[in-house]
Order: sequence, then C-alpha cells, then structure tokens
Amino acid sequence: MASLSRLFLLLFLFLVHLRRCTVDAVYIAYNTSAGIVEGKLNVHLVPHTHDDVGWLKTVDQYYVGSNNSIQGACVQNVLDSMVQALMEDKNRKFIYVEQAFFQRWWRQQSNAVKDLVRRFVKSGQLEFINGGMCMHDEATVHYIDMMDQTTLGHRFLKVEFEIVPKIGWQIDPFGHSAVQAYLLSAEVGFDALYFSRIDYQDLTKRKDTKTLEVIWRGSKSLSSSSDVFTGIFPKDYEPPPGDFYFEVDDTSPVVQDDPLLFDYNVQERVNDFVAAAVSQANITRSNHIMFTMGTDFRYQYAKSWFRQLDKFIHYVNLDGRVNTFYSTPSIYTKAKHASNESWPLKTDDFFPYADGLNRYWTGYFTSRPALKGYIRVLSGYYLAARQLELLTSSRNKKGPTTDSLGDALALTQHHDAVTGTEKQHVANDYAKRLAIGYTEAERLVGKSLSYLAESAFGSGLSNTSTKFEQCLLINVTYCPSSELHLSSGKRLVVLVYNSLGWNREDVIRIPVASELVLVQDHEGTEIESQIIPIANASLDLRRTYVKAYTGNSPSMEPKFWLAFSVSVPPFGFSTYFITPTKEKGSKAIISDSYVPQENGISTIREVGSGNLRLKFDTEKGISYHYSNRRTSVNSSIEQSYLYYKGFDGSKTDTQSSGAYVFRPNGTVSVAPEIKTPLAVYKGPILDEVHFKITPWIQQIVRAYKKKEHVEVEYIVGPIPIDDKVGKEVVTQFSTFMETNKTFYTDSNGRDFIKRIRDFRSDWELKVHEPVAGNYYPLNLGMFIKDKSTELSLLVDRAIGGSSILDGQVELMLHRRLLHDDGKGVDESLNETVCVNDKCDGLIVQGKFYLNVDPLGEGARWRRTTGQEIYSPLLLAFSEEEIGTKWTGKHITTLSLTGNSYKLPDNVALITLQSLEDGSVLLRLAHLYEVGEDKNLSVMANVNLKKLFKGNKIRGIKETSLTANQGRDEMEKNRLKWRIEGSDGLEGPVRGRPVDSSELVVELAPMEIRTFLLLFDSVSYDF
Ligand SMILES: [Zn+2]
Repeated sequence: MASLSRLFLLLFLFLVHLRRCTVDAVYIAYNTSAGIVEGKLNVHLVPHTHDDVGWLKTVDQYYVGSNNSIQGACVQNVLDSMVQALMEDKNRKFIYVEQAFFQRWWRQQSNAVKDLVRRFVKSGQLEFINGGMCMHDEATVHYIDMMDQTTLGHRFLKVEFEIVPKIGWQIDPFGHSAVQAYLLSAEVGFDALYFSRIDYQDLTKRKDTKTLEVIWRGSKSLSSSSDVFTGIFPKDYEPPPGDFYFEVDDTSPVVQDDPLLFDYNVQERVNDFVAAAVSQANITRSNHIMFTMGTDFRYQYAKSWFRQLDKFIHYVNLDGRVNTFYSTPSIYTKAKHASNESWPLKTDDFFPYADGLNRYWTGYFTSRPALKGYIRVLSGYYLAARQLELLTSSRNKKGPTTDSLGDALALTQHHDAVTGTEKQHVANDYAKRLAIGYTEAERLVGKSLSYLAESAFGSGLSNTSTKFEQCLLINVTYCPSSELHLSSGKRLVVLVYNSLGWNREDVIRIPVASELVLVQDHEGTEIESQIIPIANASLDLRRTYVKAYTGNSPSMEPKFWLAFSVSVPPFGFSTYFITPTKEKGSKAIISDSYVPQENGISTIREVGSGNLRLKFDTEKGISYHYSNRRTSVNSSIEQSYLYYKGFDGSKTDTQSSGAYVFRPNGTVSVAPEIKTPLAVYKGPILDEVHFKITPWIQQIVRAYKKKEHVEVEYIVGPIPIDDKVGKEVVTQFSTFMETNKTFYTDSNGRDFIKRIRDFRSDWELKVHEPVAGNYYPLNLGMFIKDKSTELSLLVDRAIGGSSILDGQVELMLHRRLLHDDGKGVDESLNETVCVNDKCDGLIVQGKFYLNVDPLGEGARWRRTTGQEIYSPLLLAFSEEEIGTKWTGKHITTLSLTGNSYKLPDNVALITLQSLEDGSVLLRLAHLYEVGEDKNLSVMANVNLKKLFKGNKIRGIKETSLTANQGRDEMEKNRLKWRIEGSDGLEGPVRGRPVDSSELVVELAPMEIRTFLLLFDSVSYDF
C-alpha cells in the first residue's frame, strides 16, 4: 500500500512538472449527459452498425474478419470495441441487431465481460432491437421462416438478458411487406418499425408532405389491432448528408477542438450539424428527429465514432440552436409518441422498390431460384421434423436435433441470402449450412419414425431396429432406396408422414427400376398403382445433378415412376408396401402412351379422367382448354415461354439487369418453331403430358384423377448465353378474362394484396419500366379474376410474378445474367454447376400449380393446396425380407390425434416444437382473410385436449408471436397511436382468451395465436 501511494505521489509530481514544462493542457470533459429538451429541436443520435450475416463474405468470415481483401469487415472488432467505448462513458449508447453475430461473440466472452454487457443492457446503454438471428428479407421469405428466425433470436435474448426487443429495425431490405408490419412487428409487440428503402417517387412525395412517419395497417383482417408506428428514413440508414462518418479510415472532417493544433473547426462542424438537423426537421413531424450514426460494418474501432459524437453533443448543445444527445430508437419512439401528434394511415405494402428511373429491385424476387427452392423445401421439412422431435421427446435425450437446421434456415432468411444477392461463394456457404442441418434433422426424423412405428412393441428411442432412408433428391428423380432391384426377395416399405392437421389424400410418386410391382396399403390390401415412364428431360437432369451433389454417378437408372394414392391421418403416418412380382399385376397399370404425333394425325389430345379435363392443341403452341366437370368452369389458356433480354449497361446508361435489379431490354418468344413435340401418358391415377419446348425448356403437365388443378413441372436451363445476352425466363398464361389491370399477389405466403398495373395507391406513379415496375414477389402465388371465374397460380418457392396484360399472368422462373447491376455484389448472376471440371449454366427444376375456379371459390383451393405445397408428405423408406411380417413388429398407421380429431379446414398448425426448458411451443394459424371465403372466413375453434389426445396440459400461456412475453403483457405495454382523421375505431373481433380447463382456442380470420404449453410428460400410447 505504501509503495502504491508513493507511486501516485511521483506520478503527481511528474504531471505537475509536465504541466509547467508544456504550454496549457487542453483536457476537456465533454458533457454527454444531455437528454430531451422540450421546446427545442431534439436530435436523437443513434450509434449503430449494420452487419449482414453474409453477403460479399460468409457469415463466419465477417465475424472473424477474414477474407478482408473482399471487404474489410470484422464483427468481432465491432462488439469488442463497443464494450470498451460504453465503459468509458455511461452516457454513450449503442444498438445491436443481428443475433447470429451476437451469439457467436457471446459464447466466447469471459464471465467478467458478460457481466459488463448485462449491466449495459440493464442500464439501457446497449439496446437490442429487431432481435432476430438476421435482418430477414421481406419479399422472398415465407412468414413461417420469418417467425422462426425471429423467435430464435428473441428467445435467446429472453433467456440471457430477460429482455424483450421493442423496435423493428429493417433498415436494409429492398422493399417492405405487409406481413412484416402486422405480424412481425405488431404481433411481436414492437412499438415501432424503422427502415429506409422505399420507392424513390414515394419517398419524394412523403418528404414533401411530411408523411415519412405513418401508422401502418398491414392486415385487412386484423385491422387496427395490428397497427404499427412506422418510420421511413429520409435518406438511408447512414448519417445525414454533410460528412458525418467517423470510422478510422473515413474521410469526413473530425471535430478538431484543440486550439493549440492547426485546423480548429468546432464552429464549422457545429454549423454542419445544425444545418443537417434543420433540413431533416423540415420534412418530419414533431420536434424529434433521428440521426442514424453508422452503417455497414462500422464501429470496428468504436471509439473513433464515439469520440466525435461526444464532441458533437458537447459543442452543439453549447451552441444551443438544437439539442442533441445519445439515444436509441426506443427513446426516439417514446418521444414521438409523447408528442401527441396524429399520424397518417398506410395500408398494403412497400413493393416494388426502385431507387431510380430504371432501377426496379424486382429481379431478386427470382434470383438464385434453386437456392430459394432449397430453402423452401427445408422450411417445410423443419416444421415436420420439429413435430417428430416433440412426439418422440427426442430433445431431452442425446442424439440428433433440429437445432442446426433451424440455425441454417434462420441465417438464410437474411436479406442477402434467400434473395440471391450474395456472392457465389457465400451462396455456397449457405447451401452447405442447410445441407449440414438437413443431414442431422434427417437422422432425427428417421429415428423418430422408427421409434413411433415400433413403440407399441416396446422399443425405446435408442434401441429401434428399423432403419429409414429419405430422399432429398427425389426432385431430380434420385431415390436409392426405392430404385433397388427388388428381385432378391425383399419388399420396400414406404412410410408416409403427414405434418398437416387434416387427413390427407394425395398421390405419391417414386422412381422404381421395374414395372413389375404391386402396392399394398397398411392393411395389406393391394391398391391401384400406375407406372409412368420417366421423361428424358428428368433423366438428363438426374445424370448431371446426382453427380454434382453426391460426387457419384449411380450405376443403375430407374425407368419408371410408380404412382399411387395414399391416405394419411392428421399428424401421423401410413405405411405402404411395394413388392416385386413375376408378372404384371392386375392393379399396377402401365400408362397408355401416345408418342409424339406424326403429321396428319390429330393434334388434339385430351387428358384428365376426373373432374379436370385438359384439351391440348399442339398446333397452337402450348394451348389448353381447361374444363371442370364439377364446377362447369371452362377456360381457354395459352401458355408460352419467353425471355427478357437483360439490359447490359451500355455506355450511356449503365444500369444493367443483375442480381437485384430487373431491367429488361426487349422480349424474345421461345415458342417452338415446329409444332410442340409432346408425349402423353394416361392411366387410372394421373395423366402426364411431356413437352419439349426447346432443348433447355421442358415441362411436364399433370392432371390427377382426384384433383382439379393442373400441376406443371418445369425444367429450365442451362440458359444459353452464346449470344452474350443475359436472359430472364418467364412463362405466361393468357386468357380472355377481363381483369382491368388488376391482379392479386400474396404477402410472404399469407394475405393477398390487390395490385393494379402501373398504379400505386400512395402517389401518382410515373411509369418508366412497364414490366419491371409491375413485378411483385410471390411466396404462395397469385390470381386474377373477372365476373365469373378466378385463375390462380401457386408456386413452390419465392419467385417474381406479374400481370402485364389483362387476362394474363406470368411467372419468372430463372435468370442468368452477364453483368453486375452496381448494387455492391460486384458479380454477375451467372450460376453454373460443374461436373468433372465441366461447368454449365444452372438448370432449375420446380413446380407451379394452376386452377380455374368459379368466382368466390378460389380461396379454398389456394389456401388448402398452399398448405400442401408448403408441407408435402414426408416419405421414409425401409425394406424387409418378404415373409418377415412387418406388422408383427410395427404399427402401420398412427395419428397424434388418435384419428378422432382433425383441425378445422381453415386452421393450420404452423409450429409444434419442444423448447430447451421443457415447454412446448404451439402456433395455430387461421388461413383465411376476412371475406375471402363465404364458409371459411369465420371464427374457428381448436380443441387442444383432443388435438393432443389425452396428454394432460398442465399449463398454458398465450404469448406474443415470438413467445418472449405474455400476450396480455404485450398488449398492455404497447404504445397506442393516434391516426389522422380517425377517432379510434373499435378493433376487429379476435379469439377470446383460452380457458385453461376448456382448452379451446378461438381463431378469427388471419389470426395466429402462440402458446407455451406445459405437459406432465408428452407420451403417446398408440
Ligand atoms: Zn444489409
């Protein structure tokens, strides 16, 4: 102790000496303690960093700061230096958004640092906003994925910090969806939503009319009960104009306030600041404005920003013309609320987004269609896998979980992931993460299914004997389990799992090596099946892509699809058996085929043996006559394929079509020059028509006996680029319907929004891009209607679509472009696939579904079929020696609800998941909007006792959408806002609170209700 005091004394003397020897020292204690001052213009300084969880570099490269030759960015530096900077001054504040990064950092910190960070969070110095794993995109994401990824982040914050994010912060996504506003903001409990990217014409008008801040009512059905205060930034999410960037290598002038040094500039910088504040205040209501002080990957040395911000606060407040202080979006939101202003009402959404005359960001609705398809397939799989994880209580035991799939899916919802706007190596990184996640989930699913099948026979989860294989690559006709030559005395067992809450009748198709098979149902009764030759296009695709994905070329090739009808109970499975036979069985019917027609033979082909009839006339390209015997609907539909030539960025006008931007430069029809060659296969279950439109566009049209819609499978690519022209391939359907410029597209797979060509409801649109400016994102699909019918298209992944002419709809299926569009990714969107060092353009295989319904009846098909597309039947394969009786050791059909209960037709179970703490997360969604269907847009009831078949629910708590707070609490705490010209109308009807003894959940149209359940123990006695 003595020596320490001596040290201080020496130090003191030294300092006194130093002071005498030098000229006057200039230590300035900056006063950073300012807060809101009534009556002044208050400038809220919000220090922030925008950290993409993958874009030019992968998420991990951004985190550790590697690969810096691409972009000097290290998120670890941001978070480390944030801690230091906040420690230096308790008035400093910082917000952090992306939990994927924060969690990477958090698990590496010492307890001391963690304690410090907890203190920052508690004191409000550090605020988490948005709080999902990433800042998800809003155009190309499905609402279930948006919910899941936000929930992952919110639950982490709840567990680690006991906090609930209050602000939505979607500052970078390229346009904004209605679902983001009402579902992922209001229903999450956010008090406000902030972002920057809206159409440039809209932005100009909003600045002129002071309508940058609005109350956004995203849902017609939930109406005022899901309004959210929404702030649009006047420029972007960066500091205001006037040079206020302070990263170590930024070029803005710093505040030089040491009079002993040259270039003292305090007054100039204060003037710049005041000018920026006044100019922003002129376009905003109330006397509060926000300066977003930061941008992409900034604050890597946080002090260099905070040093300047400290000075601005000090000197600007001394100056006194405006008042400024450290703030956060929550403080800003509360100040806006307290100003007691009324705000204009905004409905619908903010699509499409354009940042200039020819710069419509509508290309990314389709960019990287294969990655988009992969994400969607795994999203549906994740839903099913979590159900099985719960049913088998797998989470409590050692073994595979769904966690890594959940993490990978969360990351890929990022606005430079599923959007297709990342560099190729980053897209590969996302695909790898998905593959790893899937592989683990696949093991879980296989184990769970064998456990469920064997459970009645005493097997535990760890000692099941049945091995189930699954076939992720069945879309490219690859399924090793089903392609086996079954001649060696074995039979194939197919277990079909249904993750929907309804009994499901469907047709499954699997590739087989031989047509000599018979199919039996779970009771051993032989059922009808159909053998269909595999199209050459499918086999070609298989040859290349199986090698590309697995590294191997299978030695054998299947020749046929085996199709049969299955019936599967809700949340359960049914088992089917496929046995080789010596001769053709009476119930295994080989499709009749009509080979490509010769000249002189009728070109009319009729397919469809149920209600749906399709008549093709190949003289006229791809022309069908749709008729439905049940509804008497008749419609003539001309389908065509064409491509837009991608603008290549000429010298005078540099805007190219690229990963983000769709900028067409004329269209070229790819209708075949000769009559469309087609092959037709007919049978008792379905009819198929195979079209070869060009060597690189092929499609198969299917008409199922028991379905009324048309299924179209397309195989597009490699898109030729020998002519050095990038191409964006679309298919169009033309009808005689009088649609008066109007069409409807979904918002993130949920509500449908009315679109009018060349029109925006918020401003007078100047049309510069008649095609690109009318494109909208589809996740579920689109429809058009006239006085008597509705024509609907449903999609299997996110893609762009439009209606460029009356009576017509189009989908953009694939894009291959040769120029970068100047939005930062600095690569052209030219995806290739390499096999044996030979690379060729990516081929995309996918499906869409078309139906024509009488007016008013389309919603039912769209909603039900939409759920079936999102959650396809999950197939698991096993085999057994013929004669060893499967049924002696397995149950062959089972339902979570015990077959006695199914969900109402208007309700889907969208989450059923066991959480780390032993509780169960349940989400139920009403599938219909108000007025959408005369019978189904009504209050629905779900009986939880029946749903869980006697498993005793010990506790139930209704929560916010992301399950981080009680619903009551959330409602109580949310700020209520005043709307211009409105006197606070009553909200719409919503389901009543759930009585814990009745356990019946009411759901009003479009309502999603989230619950945490506690069971005594989940067990199923089958
Ligand atoms: Zn971003």
